[in-house]
Amino acid sequence: MSKELLAGLREYASTDLGSKIIRNIIENNGTVNFIEVFLPSDGFGAVDLSSSDIEITYTSNLQGWKNSRKDFHQGNQVNTATIGSLLAHEFGHTNAGRNVLNFPAIKSINYVNGKMEINPNASKWEEVRTVKYFENAYREQKGMPLRTHYVNTDIMKFKEL
Ligand SMILES: [Zn+2]
Repeated sequence: MSKELLAGLREYASTDLGSKIIRNIIENNGTVNFIEVFLPSDGFGAVDLSSSDIEITYTSNLQGWKNSRKDFHQGNQVNTATIGSLLAHEFGHTNAGRNVLNFPAIKSINYVNGKMEINPNASKWEEVRTVKYFENAYREQKGMPLRTHYVNTDIMKFKEL
């Protein structure tokens, strides 16, 4: 784990929601694999490996990650992002995050006759919910500007599923 990631985790753990989510993982005997990506543009992501185990991909090159997102709507707050706020977002996509806020999992992938179909509205709601309730909670507690957008979607106007 890089020193940049460790510093970001420390910031995340200092917030109310972050500490609850980390405690939830520990109490469920969960594990978190942190994998540093080769290209900064490939950071940040999260996937549940099981009901308690998580994999989080990240980059220590925050500026490189920001440069790869230059043309995003200003409401995405790319310029103000920190590794802490990005981790807050990614943990929001996990079982531990959902457990702490009692959120149901959002099913965005269905298999129809063996063919994978993605429900774009469901995957968008997953992102909007994560920005609204996880990333913005971190930003608010840290006195950072809140995100109003996920890519081009206004998170206040998006009708939740
Ligand atoms: Zn996301």
